[in-house]
Formats: sequence, C-alpha cells, structure tokens
Amino acid sequence: MDIAIVGAGIAGISTAYELAQDGHRVTVYEQHNAVAEGASFANAGWLTPTLLQPWSAPGWTLPLHAQLRGKHALLEAPGPWLGHNWRWLRRWKMAERQCLSQKLHSPAAQALEQLSSFSQVLRHDISTAHELNTESHQGHLVLLRSAREMQSLQALTEALGTLDVPAQLLDAAATRAIEPGLSPEAPLAGALHLPEGETINCRQWTQQLRQLAIQRGAQLHTQATVRDVQSVGQQVHLLLTGDTAAHLHDAVVVCSGASPALLASSGLQLPLMPVHGYTISAPLRDPCYAPQAAALDWSQQLVISRIGQRLRISGGAELGTAPEAHNQDTLARMYRTLNDWYPGAAQLSSPQVQIWRGTRGTLPDGLPLLGRTTQAGIWFNLGHGAHGAALANGCARILADQIAGREVPAEAEVLSPLRFAG
Ligand SMILES: Cc1cc2nc3c(=O)[nH]c(=O)nc-3n(C[C@H](O)[C@H](O)[C@H](O)COP(=O)(O)OP(=O)(O)OC[C@H]3O[C@@H](n4cnc5c(N)ncnc54)[C@H](O)[C@@H]3O)c2cc1C
Repeated sequence: MDIAIVGAGIAGISTAYELAQDGHRVTVYEQHNAVAEGASFANAGWLTPTLLQPWSAPGWTLPLHAQLRGKHALLEAPGPWLGHNWRWLRRWKMAERQCLSQKLHSPAAQALEQLSSFSQVLRHDISTAHELNTESHQGHLVLLRSAREMQSLQALTEALGTLDVPAQLLDAAATRAIEPGLSPEAPLAGALHLPEGETINCRQWTQQLRQLAIQRGAQLHTQATVRDVQSVGQQVHLLLTGDTAAHLHDAVVVCSGASPALLASSGLQLPLMPVHGYTISAPLRDPCYAPQAAALDWSQQLVISRIGQRLRISGGAELGTAPEAHNQDTLARMYRTLNDWYPGAAQLSSPQVQIWRGTRGTLPDGLPLLGRTTQAGIWFNLGHGAHGAALANGCARILADQIAGREVPAEAEVLSPLRFAG
C-alpha cells in the first residue's frame, strides 16, 4: 500500500519504520525541518514502568485534588480557567475515581503496562540488532519525603506487583545504599525502587529509527505542513499548505502529537488536551552525585534523569493554551528540587544549559488514540500524553498489524479512537 504519515515525532517515525518493514511505500510529512522537534525533543525519557510517569494515567499519579491545592499547586492553567478545561479535568477525575474503586486494576492501566512492556521488547530487539546506543539507563527510584507518602504508595506497589512490575518500598538507609549520590541533607523517608525502570534519549532514538525507516525505503518530507486529510472513495486526499492539488494515498496515519489541526479528519469529537511541561538539561558535574538512571520526586511530580552525560529535570503541568513566557515559578521549583536531592550534580551555570517547554497531547482517560477512525483509510496514532516515548514502538507495531488486517492483542480495543464515538 501507499501510506502517508503526518508528523515525524517518535510516534510518526516508529510508525514509518514498522510500515516500511512490512513492505509498504511510506511517505512522512513533517512541518518542521527535522524529526523530533515537537514533544519528542527533550522529554524526560522515562519509559518503564510507564504508569508512574507524572500525568500518565488517572488514579496512578498524584491525585488531581493534591495537584490543584493551594498557592503551590502543581497544575496550572494560564489565564482564567475556561469551561472546557474544567470539563476535561472532571473527566480525568471520574477516570481517577473509577481506577481507584477498581483498586488500580483498571483495563486502561493493564493496557498501558502491557503496551509499554511490548514496546520495550521491540525497542531492545531493534537496538540490539543494529547495535544502537540509546543512552539507556536502568533502575528507577520514586523518592518519598514522609512516612505518609510511604503509606500512600503501598497500594500502588502491590498493584504493580500484580502487573509483574518488580517494585519494592525501601527505607531511607536502603535507598541511600542504592543511590549514594543522594544528598545526606535530603528530606528522605524512603523510596519505591523499580529495578527494571528504564530511561532513554528519546530524540536520539527517533533519529536512529528515522535512519532505519529511510533504509527501508520510507521518504521524509520536512517543512511540509498538512492542512487537510479527506477520505474520498478508495483513496485519501492529503493537502499541504501552499499546494492546490492533493497528494493521493491509499491510507494516511495521523501522528501529529498534541496538534488539534487534523482531529476533525477522524469524524469524531476528540477531547485532546494540551498539557505543557518543562525540562532543564545541564551537563553532569560529577556522575557520582547524580541519579544512576531516574528519580521521581513523588510530592513534586518531577523526574530527574540521566541522559548520556547530562542531567535532565522534568516537570510542570499547564493546561490549555500556553502563554508566551515560561512559568518562572515552575522552573524555580525544578531547580529547588534538583538541589534538594542532588546538589552540585549538574553544571547549572553552563552555557550548555537547555530549558525546553513541550506539550503532551492528553486524553482524559490517559490512553492514546490508536487505530482506525470513522473515515475510511484515515488512521490515528496520537495523543500519547505522558508516555509517547514509552509506547511508541508497541503502538506502531499494533497499527501496522491493524492496517494489514492481522490479529492484534485484545487490549488494543481500549485505545481505539472509536471509544469517543457517540
Ligand atoms: C515535559 C515533558 C516530559 C515528558 N516525559 C516523558 C517521559 O519521560 N517518557 C515518555 O514516554 N514520554 C514523555 N513525555 C511525552 C512524550 O514526549 C510524548 O508523548 C511524545 O513525544 C509524543 O510523540 P509524538 O510523535 O506523538 O508527538 P511529537 O513529538 O510532538 O510529534 C508530532 C509531530 O507532528 C508534527 N505535526 C503536527 N501537525 C502537523 C501537520 N499538520 N503537518 C505536518 N506535521 C505536523 C509536529 O511538528 C511534530 O513534529 C513528556 C512530555 C513532556 C512535554
């Protein structure tokens, strides 16, 4: 088949790789001039377990009411809160309640964790076969500041166990034995240790996959903005900005991340919310005083990760339209938290420090939109929220199997965009 892909982030490039691997003629259209210029550029790179990522899945992260509370709220909405922001949060809250009432054994959580494991296997197979360096690090900690936090993670630890994710609550001394770089002054009560947790450099991984997709015949058109996609008879008409004639393809896969521009081509009303966040990356000063892989500060919902020779801190959640200026309170909180746990670990006054804001396109059930739409030949693989890097390879493989009419795991049904029909 002749298949077009809109978007060259980790989702689009993984899809291009899998479809080209299946022998399709693949063309990728990307509005920027390189791959991974959107959310895939400088994310935290936390892959597994995906459920513990900030803003990953309702019920699994810090509860919404705790994130909204007081003048140090972790969740921000620039300008006056709009009705649709609140309506969207209510839907997230409902999913959170439902997941908690099922003692975290919700179909959504199971689907996410299975998809993340499937992705991990595919990623490891590809990187081993091609001897790729993804700057991968293993062994995560969720850092807990009080006995109350330790208590509140008990249920979550047990639920991870039922999902076959190794996880163990450790006291402060055991945590320090695993992570000697933690500041002796840090307010540490203990940690949840996730020995199989993995981080990678998402941008580097996307660039490597791009190369493999091109070697398999995929074509990449950059500075090509798709302004419309329409199903007409047996074909899909794709219109680029500046063109008058449509490009004809047998199918189009929309992998446009958090962008709302092509949502209507699905024929569905899709509640995709932009949730903006930040990362600060700085060269390591001394690897001995930095995390071995990644550490998540539970109360602050901030991830500190090792990305090659750099340290990256990631956090913040701003809903809706992002203002021009970066949120200085959030950035200050990120610097403060880094200093609490790993003082002196990074060269924060180096000219190489990079401050980045990215956007997680998020659905109120925390799941991506993966699969066919109501329009023939138009497929979606977007809205990956907080776990796009973690799920990309699995989602791409499932989509390629769906397009080929092959059987896919039953759990893929919960990811279908058609769940929002009617
Ligand atoms: C602060 C932060 C931290 C994060 N941390 C993690 C993490 O630790 N682990 C994890 O798994 N995920 C994390 N994420 C989420 C992850 O970055 C995203 O889920 C993932 O990158 C989404 O990939 P994507 O390809 O769908 O979107 P993108 O990377 O945004 O790619 C979409 C592409 O589509 C292009 N595009 C859009 N519309 C058009 C159009 N009309 N025509 C042509 N091109 C178009 C865009 O230019 C863009 O390049 C984080 C996100 C943020 C913001």
